[in-house]
Amino acid sequence: MYRIKNLRKVPDIMQGFLLCVVWQLLVDADAKKRYREKMKIKRQKQARHNLSLYRNIFKFHEPYLILIDGTFCQASLKHNIFIKEQLSKYLQCKLQCCTTRCVLAELDLLGSEMYGAKIVAQRFQLRSCAHKDKPVPASQCLQSLIGEKNDGRYLMATQDPTLTKVARSIPGVPVLYIFQSNIVLDKPSRKTIDYVKDLSKGKILSQNDVGKLSALKKDANLAETNPSQRERRKRKRAKGPNPLSCKKKKTKQQPTSK
Ligand SMILES: [Zn+2]
Repeated sequence: MYRIKNLRKVPDIMQGFLLCVVWQLLVDADAKKRYREKMKIKRQKQARHNLSLYRNIFKFHEPYLILIDGTFCQASLKHNIFIKEQLSKYLQCKLQCCTTRCVLAELDLLGSEMYGAKIVAQRFQLRSCAHKDKPVPASQCLQSLIGEKNDGRYLMATQDPTLTKVARSIPGVPVLYIFQSNIVLDKPSRKTIDYVKDLSKGKILSQNDVGKLSALKKDANLAETNPSQRERRKRKRAKGPNPLSCKKKKTKQQPTSK
């Protein structure tokens, strides 16, 4: 009642202005929600498109292996992100979150500041690395797991700029990072795009193609044949009259000799 009485004291023009502001705020909130939903769908579509490249060219397959470091875990805590749930929704596929003992050891060394990140990382599957007895810095360990060709088909989830740079320098290493409370699959790196271009121009044969080609050659028994060998085989073939026909001639000659 007090408020209504007070509102009656406000001039009509001001009342109209206030109503207008409230209406605008409501409309804006709805518009913002719709815009966010639209952007979310757009991001998911883009991620699926990028992921299809890694699936078709670099033979990635489900469950996708997400290699996660401490910086990513820390960022997920800061933005209240449940990594596996949000990643599954975003990429719309089966995936396996994993890390290494070196990452856990590094988080342990960093103490209470990274305790939360360590708890998050501990829930992930441990991938075996070559530093069982003597842990190395996390970035070095993850780098060694990817190697030169990323044969393990890992997606790298990190906020570390150095590790991101390394991942981008190797063709076929997808990078995931957190931006504005969202997990984002980075667009394919220049190295990856160049690799795909060379592949389409026929400059490179994919490992899969090399395997298929050698299998086909073996099937056709063409792997080690050359023209000279073929010629030799032709020369060895039987020549002259059929021996059976010769025998027939002899049987005809016998009666005449008698
Ligand atoms: Zn390691």
